[in-house]
Amino acid sequence: MDHRGKLVDPLVDRRIDFHFNAMLDVIAEWRQTKELSHDINLLDKFFEMHEQFKEESQLPFTEFFPKEEEQVLQFHLGNLEYACGASLSKVSALNWDHNESLPQFSGDAVLMKDGYSQVVKRMSENIDLYLNTQVLGVDYSDDLIAVKTTDKTYTAHKVLVTVPLALLKKQTIQFTPTLPEKKIQAITSLGAGSLEKVALQFNKKFWKSKTDEDDFFGHVPAEEKQRGLFNVFYDISTSTSDSGILVTNVSGEALNLIKDKTDKEVVNLCLNTLKSLFPAQTIPDPVNYLVTHWDSDPFAGMAYSYMPVGSDGSLYDDMAEDVNDKIYFAGEATNKQFPQSVTGAYLSGIREANKIILSLTSEITQVDT
Ligand SMILES: Cc1cc2nc3c(=O)[nH]c(=O)nc-3n(C[C@H](O)[C@H](O)[C@H](O)COP(=O)(O)OP(=O)(O)OC[C@H]3O[C@@H](n4cnc5c(N)ncnc54)[C@H](O)[C@@H]3O)c2cc1C
Repeated sequence: MDHRGKLVDPLVDRRIDFHFNAMLDVIAEWRQTKELSHDINLLDKFFEMHEQFKEESQLPFTEFFPKEEEQVLQFHLGNLEYACGASLSKVSALNWDHNESLPQFSGDAVLMKDGYSQVVKRMSENIDLYLNTQVLGVDYSDDLIAVKTTDKTYTAHKVLVTVPLALLKKQTIQFTPTLPEKKIQAITSLGAGSLEKVALQFNKKFWKSKTDEDDFFGHVPAEEKQRGLFNVFYDISTSTSDSGILVTNVSGEALNLIKDKTDKEVVNLCLNTLKSLFPAQTIPDPVNYLVTHWDSDPFAGMAYSYMPVGSDGSLYDDMAEDVNDKIYFAGEATNKQFPQSVTGAYLSGIREANKIILSLTSEITQVDT
């Protein structure tokens, strides 16, 4: 839907969808012969190719629906910024989708309606798990590693670090001795992306009048500076209940539009967007809402990792490398094949658990022989 609630003309929709993907294909072709030193940001590269296309094809891009075509293009760019977790002006044109060259999972996306904590709860059965215990420092200068927490100091032969990349950048955990240069380089170079979510609960699913069976609807921004501001609304309500929940995201430069606002102001901004998308309806006040603050959360500090200009996927391998067979690293930012995802974080944990078991068994075998 456009910002006045009008459905985008199907011709414009198809044309821009095709054009957007064609430009990404052209960029994929361009980068085949390029090295890291040639890297530029994805936004500039996209518009360079876009201008070149207009010139070479002699097709006026804005032939039929000048404004609408530009707006739909901004909508697609906004979605890509959501996927990358960063403004495209920061993302590598060479390697933004580096993991696509590695095998990926397929299948439908599913929503865990009761949250991911179900998985963690199940996995942590019969394991000593200390919640609300902040790690302050890891001293690995002796055989036995000392993990200093707000509660007490624990000792261990092996330590697995799974804190988000942004916190490693901020050095919220003090490592003694300091981490090796290669690890620090990877931590500094890999991008820690930002996204925020807004969830609104309503007594009535007023959007159903326009969205039928679809469980999401798009919002085409009126202008470039609103790209990424509530780009897509996801309906995460159960089908049986009268009340409904809409979840939407803020990504890229649009994060600047909400960063100084209170939660209530962000919710009002979001409601204004919904009012413009459904002009014929009275939009009720939400009965509940949630605005995330991952960027400023002291235990997150980010959304997920991304490839900044001049970087490549090898940074993920450097992130995953252990230090002296004592300190191991897991988390989405250590998984080259499945970065940015719960899958990646989960599999990296299994990867490191295997490494630790192998290392411990080989140490025991060496002692025995
Ligand atoms: C808007 C948004 C949408 C997303 N959508 C999807 C999606 O559709 N599918 C998908 O697979 N992924 C999605 N992701 C990404 C996914 O959520 C992350 O990649 C994943 O949660 C990362 O897991 P992790 O274990 O690496 O880090 P985290 O989940 O951040 O875990 C790190 C843990 O470390 C703890 N911690 C931090 N500091 C300390 C300390 N000093 N002491 C002790 N503990 C500490 C934190 O409390 C936290 O529990 C999305 C993310 C965002 C922001």
